[in-house]
Amino acid sequence: MTSTVPRILIVGGGYAGFYTAWRLEKHLRKGEAEVTMVDPLPYMTYQPFLPEVAAGEIEARHVVVGHRRHLKRTSIVTAKVTKIDHARKVATITPPLGDPWEHEYDQIVVTAGAVSRTFPIPGIADNAIGLKSIEEAVAIRDRILANFDRAANLPAGPERDRLLTVVVVGGGFAGIEVFAELRELASSLVKQYPSISFEDTHFHLIEAMGRIMPEVSQKTSEWVLKFLAQRGAFVHLDTQVQGAIDGNVELSTGETIPTDLIVWTAGVMANPTVVRGGDLPVEERGRIRTRADLRVGTEEEAVEGAWAAGDVSAVPDLSGGGVGGYCVPNAQHAVRQSKVLAKNLVAVLRGELPKQYVHKNLGAVAGLGLYNGVFQSGNIALKGFLAWSAHRGYHGMAMPSWERKWRVIGDWWLNFWLGRDNVSLITVQKPRYVFEEFAARPRPPQPVAEEAPAVSPAAEKTPAAAAK
Ligand SMILES: Cc1cc2nc3c(=O)[nH]c(=O)nc-3n(C[C@H](O)[C@H](O)[C@H](O)COP(=O)(O)OP(=O)(O)OC[C@H]3O[C@@H](n4cnc5c(N)ncnc54)[C@H](O)[C@@H]3O)c2cc1C
Repeated sequence: MTSTVPRILIVGGGYAGFYTAWRLEKHLRKGEAEVTMVDPLPYMTYQPFLPEVAAGEIEARHVVVGHRRHLKRTSIVTAKVTKIDHARKVATITPPLGDPWEHEYDQIVVTAGAVSRTFPIPGIADNAIGLKSIEEAVAIRDRILANFDRAANLPAGPERDRLLTVVVVGGGFAGIEVFAELRELASSLVKQYPSISFEDTHFHLIEAMGRIMPEVSQKTSEWVLKFLAQRGAFVHLDTQVQGAIDGNVELSTGETIPTDLIVWTAGVMANPTVVRGGDLPVEERGRIRTRADLRVGTEEEAVEGAWAAGDVSAVPDLSGGGVGGYCVPNAQHAVRQSKVLAKNLVAVLRGELPKQYVHKNLGAVAGLGLYNGVFQSGNIALKGFLAWSAHRGYHGMAMPSWERKWRVIGDWWLNFWLGRDNVSLITVQKPRYVFEEFAARPRPPQPVAEEAPAVSPAAEKTPAAAAK
């Protein structure tokens, strides 16, 4: 039986998708529409907290928001959308197990976000790690902690140096935050390892441009460089990574940095699976062409029944502050766009007119390790403790739902009194290793004793006799 109410399909349950669904639950009357949200992950990730997860300041599970727990009136499908055929209003959904199927819809909301953007540099795809997911943040934390454990057993030398060297590529907000947080983590770890000194740890950030953090003023970015240098964390400006093979990061300056951890944060690109696997209009930078009212299409013409928001979309920035005239890819826009999108979608279903999205950037705030941060809004810049308090205050409150806010604030509170929980759980990547080592196994089949073959009189003859 076909549905009689409009069917809304949300592709992606991250910032923009989760908030769209949350708001639709609020605005839609009972039975007014059916909402389905598809995401390969069962949770939305609060990405601004990933650097703090990597540094062990917040528990990994606490920075994700479970879809099923918080979206009570939305059908959740944990799978990937691999194709959008908007001409037929059908999306192909591919589950991790079983066959793909086609899902019919009346309205589609594309919020599939962005992925790490890399370049074809030898070794990067195989040896670096991004910082877009909770799994990556946990792996980075565990790698640093495990490397301290390994290095503590080694005599001074190249292998020990390699284990205690961290390279971050990309000096945008995410890169600088994770760099500063990891530096802080390493400084705190040194106190627990008598055989490792502060001088034994090495931190390098590689940035292709002549400055870091384009979101803050030149003066503020120079303050951050000085701040990092004082803490033994070095930023290589105007430098590119040219290779990352056999544990060696090769730089355009001719330097080579041996390391066991390369964190890649040099930009993002709109989700290629969803953008390329569909027939919605795409602009030059590979994002879905979106209007200021968040319908897909151009200013002149909207694509009926298609909406987009967040990092996957190119939404005109009507405040005049955007890069190239478009909203920059950040959570500030993703959340606000999805709130407007949900209202507009409901308005269109009710035959009303959608409104345009206008948001003036509030500024940027970054944590730089415990008790330090940087904040910039227009000409106002805060540095140090005040900025760090603003960072925690803003993000603590921006975490969706009180249930999640309490968990994050609880972690901060406990760490304040008890210190970070610095234990590597890297073995979760191979959880069966002890079980396997000692597991009783069936005895291998014993070789069956061969019965003596019946001997014929002819065979009894010696070869010589037989030859006669
Ligand atoms: C380390 C870090 C720090 C950051 N700090 C800040 C900050 O301080 N302030 C700020 O404003 N912004 C910050 N950002 C940026 C911000 O997190 C993003 O702009 C925001 O997450 C974008 O939201 P989105 O919904 O577009 O994408 P996402 O939140 O990435 O969600 C996309 C969703 O789509 C899903 N998906 C992927 N492929 C498919 C598919 N084929 N089918 C269905 N679903 C799919 C994904 O699993 C994901 O759940 C930070 C980002 C990072 C990585």
